[in-house]
Amino acid sequence: MTTLSVKRLLGRILRLIVRDSQKQEAIKQWVRRVRSSLGMRKQSWFDNGYLHLPEVQIKPQGTIHSAVLRAIAVSPQYVFALEQLDPPISAPIVNEADDRRLTFCCNICGATNTDVALNLVSDREAPSCKECGSSLRVRSVIDALTSEIFGESLPLSSAPLSKSIRGVGMSDWEGYAKPLARIFSYHNSFYHQEPRLDITNVPESEFEKYDFLISSDVMEHVPNDVDKAFAYMAKMLKPGGFLVLTVPYKPDGDHEEFYPDLHEYRLISTAGKTFLYNRTSEGVEQIYDNLVFHGGDGFTLFMRMFSEAGLIKILENSGFDGGIKIYRDDDPRYGIVWPISWCLTIVARKAQHAGSNPG
Ligand SMILES: [Zn+2]
Repeated sequence: MTTLSVKRLLGRILRLIVRDSQKQEAIKQWVRRVRSSLGMRKQSWFDNGYLHLPEVQIKPQGTIHSAVLRAIAVSPQYVFALEQLDPPISAPIVNEADDRRLTFCCNICGATNTDVALNLVSDREAPSCKECGSSLRVRSVIDALTSEIFGESLPLSSAPLSKSIRGVGMSDWEGYAKPLARIFSYHNSFYHQEPRLDITNVPESEFEKYDFLISSDVMEHVPNDVDKAFAYMAKMLKPGGFLVLTVPYKPDGDHEEFYPDLHEYRLISTAGKTFLYNRTSEGVEQIYDNLVFHGGDGFTLFMRMFSEAGLIKILENSGFDGGIKIYRDDDPRYGIVWPISWCLTIVARKAQHAGSNPG
């Protein structure tokens, strides 16, 4: 019997899939099975060179393997379904993560979760706290936030009242927005409802006001000039303040903008399908179909795929001159166990004094 970790399994898939048209067909079938096993709506979701999974739309750069890699970056749980590949990659494959279990304290609601499948705990988006429904991503946000403020990772239930610390969230998850508002001078903000914040057009009255900002899986949806949004986030922070950032990102390569020439655009729904209509600044009309939306209110079209190097560059160029830290370490005490080494939580700090260097 072969036992494979996610990483080794992924490596094996990549070696097998590269420039192999038969394997491309196998991947299509695999994706179909994953989709049907999850009870997802049947549609054409592998065509025009795009791999469509519920969370991701990626144009492969030449090879299917990079698409799969990036799909897994966003939805790592899909790697577990690869044993269903036809023909199978290796039979039987037992993922060593499958049978491990974990007891952890939720750092958001404080509940003890006993004997939970590690597969579930280490799914970036799955609700794995039985009490509040927190996911790995939101626990990781709180891990980074409390570590930066208190010098150690703390559950919100034991964080000291710190009303002198001002923070703002962008469409933050209600489950942690409430306790944050109790502990800090914090408020949540929204693009489509009060209190409003359009991160591509922030009034000067909001500049240098906050000790921390939270932007969790928002920046992949900001239309147009995302550089501007990052620059505004830096401007909103006091000197020495920091941003807690999560976005889906891939470990290598360049940032990919799916709709690079957006100018005058709108969504059009017709015959049960939604299209993106755009007129570029040169007056060229464009229509995009096969759009991928993430859940939630407002404009949740998945606009771009970041990369690690691209994110660091954009942060450095946007005024985050006080150092960038990727939270790579697991903290199983609080249910933070990453099956992958990308799509992690990033903290970007503004220097204490204008123009001073990190450190
Ligand atoms: Zn919880």
